[in-house]
Amino acid sequence: MVKICCIGAGYVGGPTMAVIALKCPEIPVSVVDISQSRIAAWNSDHLPIYEPGLEEVVKKCRGKNLFFSTDVEKHVAEADIVFVSVNTPTKTQGLGAGKAADLTYWESAARMIADVSKSDKIVVEKSTVPVKTAEAIERILTHNRKGINFQILSNPEFLAEGTAIQDLYKPDRVLIGGRETPEGAKAIKALKDVYAHWIPVDRILCTNLWSAELSKLAANAFLAQRISSVNAMSAICEATGADVSQVSHSVGYDSRIGPKFLNASVGFGGSCFQKDILNLVYICECNGLPEVANYWKQVIKVNDYQKSRFVNRIVSSMFNTVSGKKIAILGFAFKKDTGDTRETPAIDVCKGLLGDRAKLSIYDPQVTEDQIQRDLSMKKFDWDHPVHLQPLSPSSIKQVSVVWDAYEATKDSHGICVLTEWDEFRNLDFQKIYNSMQKPAFIFDGRNIVDVEKCRKIGFIVYSIGKPLDA
Ligand code: NAD
Repeated sequence: MVKICCIGAGYVGGPTMAVIALKCPEIPVSVVDISQSRIAAWNSDHLPIYEPGLEEVVKKCRGKNLFFSTDVEKHVAEADIVFVSVNTPTKTQGLGAGKAADLTYWESAARMIADVSKSDKIVVEKSTVPVKTAEAIERILTHNRKGINFQILSNPEFLAEGTAIQDLYKPDRVLIGGRETPEGAKAIKALKDVYAHWIPVDRILCTNLWSAELSKLAANAFLAQRISSVNAMSAICEATGADVSQVSHSVGYDSRIGPKFLNASVGFGGSCFQKDILNLVYICECNGLPEVANYWKQVIKVNDYQKSRFVNRIVSSMFNTVSGKKIAILGFAFKKDTGDTRETPAIDVCKGLLGDRAKLSIYDPQVTEDQIQRDLSMKKFDWDHPVHLQPLSPSSIKQVSVVWDAYEATKDSHGICVLTEWDEFRNLDFQKIYNSMQKPAFIFDGRNIVDVEKCRKIGFIVYSIGKPLDA
């Protein structure tokens, strides 16, 4: 019987291991982390992350074959398969700052695996890493622990936050990359046997290591590129009177293109898209491919442009100043059904409005006041010119209040910005909201979820991304 251990109990490690434990009841699965508070939360009734369906899975397996622990070394030493799902953020200092992946956490995990291992192990890259990382990991492991066979596999995770459990139950594919040697093939088979408990074998793709590592970066780059493409179209729509929803619908009908990921919005966020494209850009630059690097860079530039375009639209619509005006921010998470705010477009939009001295009243059903205050007070890192920009002044931060109800957020406000597509925002009583607001009352819909016609009938001035403007 194999034993599994996962290093890193975050948005990927936690849900992925919970589903493996559920689907493979005979396999003991431990998830370890250096963060005591995270592990304590995984062992409590208040899990550290919000993800639909996750709580049920954890409750079913925890204490039976799913264990969360800070005793990293003990669980790693006992495991046959060690997943590594630590964070791989963008480097902010030194060589490659602003683009390259920071592999510090990975390296320290690999050194620890080497230190504590007394039996052969399969080490699985679950984190998203640059191509050729497996080569570096192999070196660290084999040079530090002789006589033990380490097989490195790349098994990138394709789940999306907000739908992680469903994605893990029924993934489009599971990708496993390994060495093309008999030992490599044996390791691939061992991991395949785990997934085959619930995933049809024709959905388990096996490749060489470098293809698997690169495929994850490529998938995120393609997804982000679609968003930037449709957002670039949204700007053309606004300039010409075309409607981006109609354009997306028409374009997506083409079976070569397909309808998914064609919603115009205030921009993409989350911890992965920007970082993984920057990582790809760095790989291109290191391999003497500057034109290819520029191509991918443009995807992020359009995303940044979309956020600043949105802020400019708000300020210019509100008579060129938002100074002292209350603006309700509906939604702060980077997408619905998650409390994750990493790289959320809400940070840049809020900072832009605070820069023009607006007063913000923010409501998100899954994001805490602490998270919002922390995100808004943090220095922003400028990837294009790798420096930390100055954080907002404390007096700007004082202009922010965080409330627990959309009606409270919008009361007495001059305008509403919808920044996350939470379902509850579709069903708000907009007449009641309108009655409680300053006039003229504006809606700036960064997710195109508001019923524009209905709200215009009520009396709102509505701006939706890529849609014809109010007369
Ligand atoms: P996360 O920050 O939520 O979790 C990482 C965890 O690793 C943290 O809890 C941290 O304390 C822990 N950790 C770091 N170093 C450690 C060490 N040496 N020993 C033990 N624990 C350690 O990150 P995440 O969102 O789960 O992402 C993890 C990886 O998966 C990243 O490479 C990311 O790019 C990739 N990924 C993320 C998503 C997503 O939607 N979040 C999807 C697919 C892939």
